[in-house]
Amino acid sequence: MRRITGFRLCALVLGALCLASTAGTAAEPPPGLSPTEREVFQRIKARIIREATKTLADDRFEGRGTLQPGGDKAAAWIADRMKTLGLAPGGEGGTYLQPVPLVATELVEPTRVSVDGTPLTYGKDWSSLGAFADLQVSAPLVFVGHGLVSKKSGRDDLKDVDLRGKIAVCVEGPPAGVTVEKWAEISADANLLETLLARGIGGLISLANGRELLPRTFVIDQTARRVVSVPSTTPPSEIPVMFFGAAAAERLMAGSGKTAKQALDEAGSAAFSPWLLAPKVDIQLESSRKEGTSPNVIGVIKGSDPVLAAEAVVFSAHYDGFGVLRQTIYNGAADNAIGVGEMLAVAEAFARARVKPRRSLVFIAFTAEEYGLLGSKHYAAHPTWDLAKTAAVLNLDGIGTEIMGPMKGMVAYGAKLSSLGPMFFEVARAYGITPMDDPIPAQGVFRRSDHYPFAERGVPGLMLVGSPVDDPQQFTERFEEFERTKYHQPSDDVYRDWYWKGARKVADMMALIGHRVAQADALPSFNAGSEYAGRARGEAPKAAGR
Ligand SMILES: [Zn+2]
Repeated sequence: MRRITGFRLCALVLGALCLASTAGTAAEPPPGLSPTEREVFQRIKARIIREATKTLADDRFEGRGTLQPGGDKAAAWIADRMKTLGLAPGGEGGTYLQPVPLVATELVEPTRVSVDGTPLTYGKDWSSLGAFADLQVSAPLVFVGHGLVSKKSGRDDLKDVDLRGKIAVCVEGPPAGVTVEKWAEISADANLLETLLARGIGGLISLANGRELLPRTFVIDQTARRVVSVPSTTPPSEIPVMFFGAAAAERLMAGSGKTAKQALDEAGSAAFSPWLLAPKVDIQLESSRKEGTSPNVIGVIKGSDPVLAAEAVVFSAHYDGFGVLRQTIYNGAADNAIGVGEMLAVAEAFARARVKPRRSLVFIAFTAEEYGLLGSKHYAAHPTWDLAKTAAVLNLDGIGTEIMGPMKGMVAYGAKLSSLGPMFFEVARAYGITPMDDPIPAQGVFRRSDHYPFAERGVPGLMLVGSPVDDPQQFTERFEEFERTKYHQPSDDVYRDWYWKGARKVADMMALIGHRVAQADALPSFNAGSEYAGRARGEAPKAAGR
């Protein structure tokens, strides 16, 4: 799943996630399947998933970086697999590929950030948010606390301060005794970045008080990376917007007579007023820029019904990872080589099935998901299969919870929004799997993977995340541990103890739900009252142009 970034007050929410090792002999299909469903079930092989996952997560694919050679190599490999399986090309110009125009920017020498002449370490002490412009900034620093200007809460943290040309230093986590959720509520009518920009700041540095959603070390590690974006719509930030770590925060408070902890705690008070910081910060950002294209990979299995074959069910998984960063390969095995492996196993099962479903099936391996769903957003804006005739999207993306042991539960993100929900519940019941509610609602997962641009355009979808535990608390613990140790890190690799039968079950369930959507007389629809209800399939969202 992709990272999320966005300032709200000083509450930056950086998304967690951007979600025994034998292949096993043929498992028994669950009861209640039609003969065709039984055939598809029997053709889904854990071996296929394991091979595809291991291949895509192998060092020779160099972490499948977008606009890096490994990404193109992975796309070519997936296209080749689709061809071998007999899928028809579903990309552009009679190929399996749909090129997506993108630009990559990366900080390069002589980029420097120093406090009173002492250089800070990029990726440890600081990181910078967004596409990078070349900047040189040296300006007075003002500590603005939470920067909360809110009519609702009657608070103004920016009173009596002139911020023009100055670097605002803010604190992100909520004040002591206030939860992240409560703080989001309190600050709902405020927008920190907008407010500060309107006051003419020359830069922004965010500090952490330890009460934010994600640890600061994690946030800095995740944001000190090359950035991939859409060339025309993403002008680089004209001012530095940065995260500082604990040691750097301490340096900023030097000479104030306060420790960083004291200063950050005091900022929680409603009586807070901004004050000038003594140290001098020098910021020099230089970046490289590389434009190019990276492809979505698309293959089609034609439906068997003369009329309904014009409509399609989309199966998707993003193939991109973080590639090579600072000479290190990020193999992205659980996120999301395995999702692609599972999707390809589904494609293989349907390709080999003697009877094809009534509707067509479109399999898409998306690019650039990690950089803001760029591949799927491009596809949604330029679909190669008419979205008005796209029944649903079933997406796989996560953190490999399905290979942590025999699967007990599954979260189907989006199940509450559409008629796909009851279908999912039925399939889960057949498999004896507990359908789980989103155990981490604060993370807004539904908006953070490739099914989402479809939902924005009126196409219902599900993202299936299997789990060896069906208790939300335990799921969250596993999730958080993965986040700490492997998420978007070089350690996200294939491990010997992976339970591949779990991956098979996810693929089974995806195939079964997809098959039922493809066979049903009516197209699935969003539930009345859901925020997507009433949108015509294919209709551009209000804030379109992405
Ligand atoms: Zn992912």
